[in-house]
Amino acid sequence: MMNIIYKGKVKTIYESDNSYEVLIDHEDKICAGNGKKQDIIVGKGLVNSQISAILFEQLNDVGVKTHYLKMAGVNLMRCHFVDMLPLEVVIRNFVAGSLAKETHLRKGIHLNYPLIDFYLKDDELGDPLLTEDRMRNMGYSDILIGLLRKRVLEINLVLTSIFDSIGLHLIDLKLEFGRTIRDATLVLADELSPDNMRLWSQETHESKDKDLYRKDQGGVFEAYSEVLNKLTVLVEERKAVVVESSTSSDPLPVDISEFDVPEPKMEEPSPESSLVSSE
Ligand code: 5GP
Repeated sequence: MMNIIYKGKVKTIYESDNSYEVLIDHEDKICAGNGKKQDIIVGKGLVNSQISAILFEQLNDVGVKTHYLKMAGVNLMRCHFVDMLPLEVVIRNFVAGSLAKETHLRKGIHLNYPLIDFYLKDDELGDPLLTEDRMRNMGYSDILIGLLRKRVLEINLVLTSIFDSIGLHLIDLKLEFGRTIRDATLVLADELSPDNMRLWSQETHESKDKDLYRKDQGGVFEAYSEVLNKLTVLVEERKAVVVESSTSSDPLPVDISEFDVPEPKMEEPSPESSLVSSE
């Protein structure tokens, strides 16, 4: 029997045979509204852990530091043991969710410059939106805030490109970071699944994420499985390209050692770039 280190709403973290590493179990539970709404979707834990594993592997491969080490069972992931920052960092490429509710920005508008929102991770306070001034007074240095922004932009760039390749818009994404117990390296932690991001079909604009559950639209397992299947095909195709190019005399098409974030363009969102005409 493994010892539990932490039990979250949909994940359980267990001790492993190495004090610097943990095992993370993804459960079939789905929650919304800060745990007020809860259900079991059989197989969701498995699908989400597989989606997370693929995306973490893609990030690790291009040099973005994450907590992910390897899969240790169908729902079980071996990860670095981290001390989590009590923050949720949301990056948004299109207007949706709370941004549409709390501002006059129209749902579906493409943000020419991705927008980053920091939230305090505190269920009792309802995860309030933070300002950078509040963060500085809470002890976050300008360097750490800058590093988090840079990491989030890098992650968004990699994931946007992956989802674009399978016909999905990455609308927004919630990320959590921690410092490894081993050497205090800042790494992306938590999970990367349709539970913590919005994905819309580029063709039909249908949601392929937790909004289906939040809005009682059904088809959650089918949508998540569709995302996993498309990602699996994409990764297999990319592996085949790498094998082919490594057996030929041509160098690899991308130099991942030079991975960097391009200078963001500051432009007003234009109504033409909206995905939906009105609420
Ligand atoms: P919003 O602020 O619009 O409600 O959420 C923005 C993005 O972050 C969405 O993709 C949403 O799923 C994700 N997100 C925000 N808060 C949470 C949370 O507490 N848990 C999870 N899993 N995702 C969240």
